Amino acid sequence: MLLDPAQARDWLTRAAREGFALLAVNADSPAALTDVLEAARQCSAPVMVETSLWQLNGHSFGAGDPFLGLTRYLVQLATLAASDRFQPVPVLFHTDHIKGPVTLPLLQAAIRGLPTGIADTTISPSTLSLDSSTLSEDQNIEHILALCEEAARTRRPVTLEMEAGVDDGVTPLEVTRRLLGTVEARAPGRLALWAPGVGTRHGLGDQSAFSPDAVRRHADLASSIAGRPIGIALHGSSGVPEPALRQAVAAGVTKVNWSSESLLVRSRAAREFYATHTERLEPAHPDWKNTAMDHGVQSFVSQRYVPRLIERIQLLGAAGKATQPAPA
Ligand SMILES: [Zn+2]
Repeated sequence: MLLDPAQARDWLTRAAREGFALLAVNADSPAALTDVLEAARQCSAPVMVETSLWQLNGHSFGAGDPFLGLTRYLVQLATLAASDRFQPVPVLFHTDHIKGPVTLPLLQAAIRGLPTGIADTTISPSTLSLDSSTLSEDQNIEHILALCEEAARTRRPVTLEMEAGVDDGVTPLEVTRRLLGTVEARAPGRLALWAPGVGTRHGLGDQSAFSPDAVRRHADLASSIAGRPIGIALHGSSGVPEPALRQAVAAGVTKVNWSSESLLVRSRAAREFYATHTERLEPAHPDWKNTAMDHGVQSFVSQRYVPRLIERIQLLGAAGKATQPAPA
């Protein structure tokens, strides 16, 4: 079931208290959504699905219109998550790396509820974040407060992740005091995740600067500023060795974004499918239609991708959590 912002916050608080992390998969196609929910179902885990602006604008969802993309993505995910097969899976949907002039209009519309075209039904993400990489500290604070104000004005719930310098080495604790301190003072209770730089970098490059100690310092400080458990969102987890990821979760990471490696697994599987099915793609072959259909390549990719998702969910300690009582 797709969770609302209040339920999402409860799950993130539980993850912080119990010391596990949600895998947050940057899924860029309807078939990838099915695979993520299937992996979570198989290991009885809560899971996050997230999208960046490039996916909302991408051909599978918005085809150039990020408002349409977000609505279409959410409707697909909500429908899938409400199906009998996936109803027991707690599914959180998160907006990740939204940037540029569309940031506030898009996220404010998401808080108000996006019109689905089905009767009077609107739909909203579970949790929100925006890309702060080109914003000053003051602009970052203003953007987060603008989202809090929209939620207050429209009496809608919102649960937020705030970030700072996720690709710029380890964020100084002073920055956390300034950013989180200001937001908590002016709009208390809206943040559930803090994403400082902890030495990782987006992409598939060197991750040797990653510091689980920095995770712990930031998680402790953020929770002390807020007066409640605030988990760390880990950006750029691709290529971080498994022992370091385990240490990160033990130190206070509650959300692990997974994008580059996920794309690599899926694209390599698709390449393998086309490379090994050349003959079957000839119209004279009796199986060419089955091979040519989207279902052909996507089921092949799924067989290679779902086990990788399961490994990762287990690594983060989330397996089995969905079968235990939901957080109060
Ligand atoms: Zn990121």
